[in-house]
Amino acid sequence: MINETIVCTRCVMDSTAREIIFDENGVCNFCKYYDEVRTKDLYQDDIGKQKLEALIKQIKEKGKNSDYDCLIGLSGGVDSSYVAYLVKKFGLRALAIHLDNGWNTELAVANVEQLVKRLEIDLKTYVLDWKEFKDIQTSFLKSSISNIEIPTDHAIWAILIKTAGKMRIPYIIAGNNVVTESIMPESWLYGSKDSKLIKAIHRKFGKVKLKTYPSLTTFNYIDYLLVRGIRWVPILNYISFKKDEAKKFLMEELGWRDYGGKHYESIFTRFFHAYYLPEKFGYDLRKSYLSAMICSGQMTREKALEELLNPPAPKELLNQDKEYVIKKLGLTQHEFEQILKVPNKTFADYPNRDSLWRRFNWFVKIARKWITRVG
Ligand SMILES: [Zn+2]
Repeated sequence: MINETIVCTRCVMDSTAREIIFDENGVCNFCKYYDEVRTKDLYQDDIGKQKLEALIKQIKEKGKNSDYDCLIGLSGGVDSSYVAYLVKKFGLRALAIHLDNGWNTELAVANVEQLVKRLEIDLKTYVLDWKEFKDIQTSFLKSSISNIEIPTDHAIWAILIKTAGKMRIPYIIAGNNVVTESIMPESWLYGSKDSKLIKAIHRKFGKVKLKTYPSLTTFNYIDYLLVRGIRWVPILNYISFKKDEAKKFLMEELGWRDYGGKHYESIFTRFFHAYYLPEKFGYDLRKSYLSAMICSGQMTREKALEELLNPPAPKELLNQDKEYVIKKLGLTQHEFEQILKVPNKTFADYPNRDSLWRRFNWFVKIARKWITRVG
């Protein structure tokens, strides 16, 4: 059979990711990449502890003249909620930023409220202008590129970085981490830093003028991250982060409630992961999250394969989400079906800054190292 899907012998990534390559033992390049970033970006045991202690000390020192030591983004999901707990545990004065893009589930909102109350962390909720944001999201759906979450992810970073600049808070402590997130094909999810792509897609398909949508230009990145020296700290890379244990801890100690599925704290995200990507593109993001769990030794390959036999979300919920998305974005059933039928595209079909980012990759890498360096 020509189109048979080939699965990695170590993780559960397969040939639905078009950039996958297998070695003579059938082990994929994503597994190799995981091992590489694990040795490079992940600090475990005593080294992690020492580095983290030095980092906390540095954050406190730098923040002593500001109202807060650090900013955190709080979505209500496991990773960001655990970060909120950690900053409190280490005695950092944090300001939490929550983005309301109109799609958060009640459970996610309840989690955010519960956490900041119990941990006594100040919270700022940033509400996106719905008319504008709806227009951007609809434009992304019409663009037929796979990552329709770029507008949300970009907005979160833009708000965090700009708030840090305005309030002179030098550190943003984030929940991004090697352990659960480092396996992700670019063909599935093109990154969210590219505001040129967002503007190009909106210019082509949008109807409303953008006045308030938070975005970052290349100049902004250089200004905030290099000139003003705002630093980004992936704190979960410094501890032994076990997702299941973190979840259990949050539930037992902080009244956090589970919403099932990674990033299912938003209805749009659930629709994106569990309906849009599998239906239109044949991508199942669970494969990448489960593979990262396998490579980090938190799950067996057998268990992951077993989990993949289930649909990403119950069918009834998927249909319910689909109808909700259609209604909320003001689309007709026919328009939505057309969107699913349009041939799939990639970011490369629209003006973007990919080549610039690639060309200056070495520069960004050095800058990042500088941004996240310790001591
Ligand atoms: Zn693999």
